[in-house]
Amino acid sequence: MMEQLIYLNGQFVSKKDAVVSVYDHGFLYGDGVFEGIRMYEGNVFRLQDHVDRLYDSAKSILLSIPYSKQELSDLIVETLLRNNLQNAYIRVVVSRGVGNLGLDPASCSQPQVIIIAEELTLFPKKLYETGIDIVSVATRRNRSDVLSPKVKSLNYLNNILVRIEANLAGVSEALMLNDQGYVAEGSADNVFIVKNGEILTPPGYVGALEGITRNVIMEIAHKLGFPMKEEVFTRHDVYVADEVFLTGTAAEVIAVVKVDGRKIGDGKPGSYTNKLLEEFRKVVKEDGVKVYEQQNV
Ligand code: PMP
Repeated sequence: MMEQLIYLNGQFVSKKDAVVSVYDHGFLYGDGVFEGIRMYEGNVFRLQDHVDRLYDSAKSILLSIPYSKQELSDLIVETLLRNNLQNAYIRVVVSRGVGNLGLDPASCSQPQVIIIAEELTLFPKKLYETGIDIVSVATRRNRSDVLSPKVKSLNYLNNILVRIEANLAGVSEALMLNDQGYVAEGSADNVFIVKNGEILTPPGYVGALEGITRNVIMEIAHKLGFPMKEEVFTRHDVYVADEVFLTGTAAEVIAVVKVDGRKIGDGKPGSYTNKLLEEFRKVVKEDGVKVYEQQNV
C-alpha cells in the first residue's frame, strides 16, 4: 500500500513523521483554525468557499496564514495528487505555532500549516435510508459575543461536550441550543426543519457555523422553488416539524427521525430531505476544483 503523505510546514512527510511540537499553541491552547473539506470523484467540493472560510477564521483571531489563498489551494490539490485520492476527506489546520508555555501568542514564531488527506470513511449507507435519532443536550452553544461560532477554531471543547452527552444518551449526534434556548446546531452539523412545505434553518446570529453544506442546501432549495427561510426556532418547533435534517461536510444531508424521544413526521426520512440529498449528491461532483483535470491543463 502506498504510504500516506501529509503536508507539514513546507514538506510532504510520512504519517509517522507528521508530528508537531508539544509547545505548539494549537496543542497547548487550541490556538488555531481548521477546515474539513471533501473530494468527490476527483472534485474538491467548493474548495474556494472552504479556503475563504479558513482565511476569515484566521483573520478573526489575528492569525496570518503564510500563504496566499491560491498557494494554499494548490497545496491542498498537491496533497490529494501525491496521495492518489479520488474520494477523500481533507483536513487543513493552521495553528499559531511553537511558542513558550505562556498563552501570549506573541511568543509564537510562525504558524504551522498542516494538510491531511485520506480515504473517506463513509457514514453507513443505511443511516441515509432510516434517518437518525438525536437528542438536545444541556451544553449550550458558545455565545457569539464570547467566541464566535463562525470562527472554525481549534477550540472545539464546546462541541466535544455535546458529543459526550450524545454518547451518554446512546445517539450519534445532538442539538445545541444557544444561551437563550433557541436551537443553534449540532456538534458538527447545521440543522434544518420543514413545516408545512417551508424549510427553516437558524440564522447565523443564533450561533451556528456558517456551514458550506448549509449554504449549498439553501441554494438548492431556492433552485427547486422550495420556500426557504433563516428563522429562529425552539425545540418545540423541532418536535412538531414534518421533517428534520442535518447538513455537514461529513454527514452531507441526513434525516433525523426522532428528537428527544419525539417521532418526527412519520418516523422516516421525508420527501424534502430526500430530494435535497439527491440534488446535493449531484452538485458535489460538479461544483469545485477538479484535481485530475487541472493537472492536464
Ligand atoms: N457546525 C459545526 C460546529 C461544524 O463543525 C460543522 C462542520 N464543519 C458544520 C456545522 C457544518 O459545516 P460544513 O457544511 O461547512 O461542513
